[in-house]
Amino acid sequence: MRDLTAIENQDYDLIVIGGGINGAGVARDAALRGLKTILLEKGDFAGGSSSWSSRLIHGGLRYLEYFEFPLVRESLKEREVLLRTAPHLVNPLLLTIPIYGDRSRPYWKIWAGMILYDIFSFDKTLPLHRMLPKAQFRQLFRSIDPEGLSGGAQYYDGQVAYAERLCLENIISAREAGAVVLNYTEVTHLQRQGDRLTSLVCRDLLTDKEFTVKGHNKTVVINTSGPWVDKVCKSGVENDRDAPIGKTRKIGPTKGSHIIVPPFPGAPETTFYVEAKSDGRPFFIIPWLNMYLIGTTDLRYNGDLDRIKADDEEIDYLLKETNNIIPTANLCREDVKFTYSGVRPLPNQEGKKPGSVTRKHILYDHKKEGVVNLISLIGGKLTTYRNVGEEMVDAVYRKMNKAAPPCSTDSQPLPGSILPSDRSVGEAIDKYSERIPLKSINHLFSMYGSRALEVLALINNEPELAEKITDRLPDIKAQIVYAVRSEFAYTLVDIARRRTTLAIHAGNYGLELLPVMTETLKKYCGWTQEKCDRASLEYRTYMEENCIPDYELTTS
Ligand SMILES: Cc1cc2nc3c(=O)[nH]c(=O)nc-3n(C[C@H](O)[C@H](O)[C@H](O)COP(=O)(O)OP(=O)(O)OC[C@H]3O[C@@H](n4cnc5c(N)ncnc54)[C@H](O)[C@@H]3O)c2cc1C
Repeated sequence: MRDLTAIENQDYDLIVIGGGINGAGVARDAALRGLKTILLEKGDFAGGSSSWSSRLIHGGLRYLEYFEFPLVRESLKEREVLLRTAPHLVNPLLLTIPIYGDRSRPYWKIWAGMILYDIFSFDKTLPLHRMLPKAQFRQLFRSIDPEGLSGGAQYYDGQVAYAERLCLENIISAREAGAVVLNYTEVTHLQRQGDRLTSLVCRDLLTDKEFTVKGHNKTVVINTSGPWVDKVCKSGVENDRDAPIGKTRKIGPTKGSHIIVPPFPGAPETTFYVEAKSDGRPFFIIPWLNMYLIGTTDLRYNGDLDRIKADDEEIDYLLKETNNIIPTANLCREDVKFTYSGVRPLPNQEGKKPGSVTRKHILYDHKKEGVVNLISLIGGKLTTYRNVGEEMVDAVYRKMNKAAPPCSTDSQPLPGSILPSDRSVGEAIDKYSERIPLKSINHLFSMYGSRALEVLALINNEPELAEKITDRLPDIKAQIVYAVRSEFAYTLVDIARRRTTLAIHAGNYGLELLPVMTETLKKYCGWTQEKCDRASLEYRTYMEENCIPDYELTTS
């Protein structure tokens, strides 16, 4: 139970609305630099756009076409920072671009892009690009459609396989540095006096209780609610006098969908970055945790932000375009094991094609709208979240008229940071390998980094937690309990979709694991039968509304 009275009795220097990757990054930086910080998230941490991405930590090769050079440079710098500070979560990723004469980006253009990309990442630790003439490319990738092929290019970027856990580790670090972090807490009202926001009315969605978070006369409020930025601003409108905040639309969201399929005939070992044959749109075919993540689409979106789903047409488009490039794949709807879709919180640039809207982030100071202590983030990628945090906290100190202590997040490792060569991995194997399969121990380290030791420690007192959740996967029951006791998980979706990848890797959207998950929660986390039943129903609804394709629902 959370102590809302204690929270109400405090005055915070900084109030952060939204616990996606950007809010988490702001809260971490702020707490590490000594600000008394509270972060409020209406759903689960990383439950918004941050869990629906392609999971690339990338400079954005494509942005070079739009001359977004500062953004590319910023992203490439941040890629290096993450490789250094989160080596357990962010790994180098080799990408291959097949080049076709009949598409919009010819060989010379890709080559020029590759050179520029290397120049912008002159201080990188990853290898330089290489161009592959047609014959060599064909030797390496025999399954690729040869018609019109003129060669290829290869270069490195980064991958964060567990993007949700990157967000979570920032939340954990923020809390360790003194921040209060609350998920399932919706900000329902911004209260204002004159030109300042003075307090926020919130609803604890776990208990349905209302409470107030207040500041002092220098408090700053940061709105990192991603696609919901405009909606949050409008929750400040008490009467017409207050209307200007949120009057102009700042976010122009575009929807992007992914499908997940098992390895298929001709599946590449490296990530493919390809142009769709039908419309020239670039998309990725990404090896991801023994599956393939294929996406994304890019469509204007004006629908419900809390229920976003890949349309049947988007799924068919991704299947067809993958088959176009790798004809042996022969993928069809039955191969799709999971889908997800999210919206990019992009700046509202009406009239522009979705792909050409800037991916640059903007710190929008609401002073222009008559509120001096509110800044909203417009845009912002997964890749650049740390820098957003740094810029925001610098801006907060400026608003408070105080000198900002130096930012340390570019060198301070995230909580689970560990290298595979670390001694503790070998020690854990010695200690636990009689009780837990080696594959599971390795799996835990690849997911939790050094925090795997805490997951493993649970079985010292509760030996049954060493059991696997299902024979098909390396995950063990201790992970379910750890998610609830130590990682702010409150629902089955939190556990199966964002603390682990059970929902995706177990097949059938994780539905068959509900009995074992709820049994474990009943026994070790005090869940009642009624709570388990309700949670199972909510899990099914969530999957139907967000992940199970319509064509499966109508045929089942
Ligand atoms: C299809 C797709 C692919 C992408 N691929 C990549 C990629 O490969 N690499 C990359 O770098 N970026 C990628 N991105 C971009 C990136 O995922 C997003 O820009 C980023 O995650 C946005 O994070 P955020 O924290 O700003 O927003 P979000 O993650 O959406 O977080 C905002 C949070 O605010 C909360 N909130 C809303 N209203 C309230 C309220 N009233 N009270 C409290 N909380 C509230 C929401 O619940 C949400 O959790 C992709 C995005 C999409 C959609």
